[in-house]
Amino acid sequence: MRELGMALRAAATVFRWCIWILGTALLGILALRRATRVAWGWDAIVGESARCPRGHRNVLVGVWECRSCGSVFEGWAFRPCPVCGESAHYVSCERCGLSIKSPAAP
Ligand SMILES: [Zn+2]
Ligand SMILES: [Zn+2]
Repeated sequence: MRELGMALRAAATVFRWCIWILGTALLGILALRRATRVAWGWDAIVGESARCPRGHRNVLVGVWECRSCGSVFEGWAFRPCPVCGESAHYVSCERCGLSIKSPAAP
């Protein structure tokens, strides 16, 4: 009967490990979800649109030409150019032409 007791204890240990791993995985998933939400929050901060000084709304996601090297890239207006790494400090309002400053600009 001693073997049976040992087997049961081993089984209980394995069971506890399973619970622990499941719990850890669950916590990991929850943390990951929170991180994703923070990333989404960041997305809202960088913004897919911005207003010029006159209040015109401009979409900041599209096709842009790098002012530094002239290459054309797609995405957020203020992202670094994939060719030269330079990022725009401003974009011009499509309605009035006033400059909309990049949040990354000094
Ligand atoms: Zn460039
Ligand atoms: Zn404007």
